[in-house]
Amino acid sequence: MLTAGFVSLGCAKNLVDTEIMLGILADNNIHITDNPQDADILIINTCGFIDAAKEESISTIMQMAEYKKEGKCRGVIVAGCLGQRYQQELLDELPEVAAIVGTGAWHRIMEAVNAVLYNERVLLIGEMDTLYDENMRRITTTPTYSAYVKVAEGCSNCCSYCVIPMVRGKYRSRSIESIVAEVKKLAERGVKEINLIAQDTTSYGRDQYGEPQLTALLKELVKIEGIVWIRLLYCYPKYFNEELIEFIASEPKICNYIDMPLQHADDEILLAMNRRDTRSDIEGLLKKIRTAIPGVVIRTSFIVGFPGETDKHFESLKNFLLEQKFERVGIFTYSQEEDTPAGSMEDQVPASVKEERYHELMSLQCRVSEELNHDMEGKALTVLIEGQSKEQPGVAFGRSYREAPDVDGCIYVENAEGLLPGDIVQTEVVQGFTYDLLAERK
Ligand code: SF4
Repeated sequence: MLTAGFVSLGCAKNLVDTEIMLGILADNNIHITDNPQDADILIINTCGFIDAAKEESISTIMQMAEYKKEGKCRGVIVAGCLGQRYQQELLDELPEVAAIVGTGAWHRIMEAVNAVLYNERVLLIGEMDTLYDENMRRITTTPTYSAYVKVAEGCSNCCSYCVIPMVRGKYRSRSIESIVAEVKKLAERGVKEINLIAQDTTSYGRDQYGEPQLTALLKELVKIEGIVWIRLLYCYPKYFNEELIEFIASEPKICNYIDMPLQHADDEILLAMNRRDTRSDIEGLLKKIRTAIPGVVIRTSFIVGFPGETDKHFESLKNFLLEQKFERVGIFTYSQEEDTPAGSMEDQVPASVKEERYHELMSLQCRVSEELNHDMEGKALTVLIEGQSKEQPGVAFGRSYREAPDVDGCIYVENAEGLLPGDIVQTEVVQGFTYDLLAERK
């Protein structure tokens, strides 16, 4: 039996593609191993969004290629965004790679496997119109109680710094029926937490139904037995409407957690980024959300050092961060990407300035986060247990509605002997740290 090893890099959206490819491999009787030394074929699902991600992808490809020299591995396949972006150029530059499978060609992963077996080299780049559905076998790699569900692929927003529309194609939504059928299957397998993802989750349905349908989708998903939490990730602010806010506020299964990447807060920079909201639009929306959904946790991300960002623009971003007191913030330094409008803007910010701004914003956010976590002391939280601490017997760790998987801190729970991953328990927070909380099981 042929054995394949898989490395999935980048975001949760890429992870779902990995899981679908794992399903295709399994359907073709290919055994999957966690140990690259045991693999006949090594597949790397890459990210090529920004410089740091490209570097990580290349270095992982080179590491995996070492297993070819050592013996068992017969070939390396590169899937995902990096391959889609650089295509033949990447194949020419990396003789170690047998096949490239673009983001529109994951369903052709077996052609790449066959290329390895026949000692050929292939470039598989399809039309960027692929979408998975509920009938495809998907081997989830997340813990048994939690899964990502991709509701749409691609993006049509065209933010001036972003290569996603180029490497993932135009925005295209799955049907409500397909998503509901998939979530039912996941619930039957014991999944309790569903994390809805897309490049822009709030636009869900606009392409297929003429207007955003996220609330309509959520109304169907909350009916599914066994699902305890539904979490919304990657919400672009534009279509975050009142109907959606009200539904989140009224429906206990929808986590009071909103991940809304805002990228900046200064109008001149937002305009240059080709974002569609002004600072005052964003402030208005955040106010509505916080008023309607008490206890809501908002995660956002910002880019510092966008071309033309002056000290004044940066000050305006800092003020916004301090005013809004977001519970979770991711900060990125701007990455100059070829073939994007921002990549050819003249007033690029020096790397040292970007770094300085990154650290300044990070330290401000650390203070905000610590303060907000202290405010949690004495509050009750329902925690989904993820495991037992190896260092501290009787202490488990997990997440509440306030923590998304993979990106946020965690909650350590005392008096947790015997608790297993997937258990849900009531706790009271005893101490807040910068990113994590300590709670006691009640
Ligand atoms: S909305 Fe997100 S994925 Fe789409 S172009 Fe903008 S940054 Fe890229």
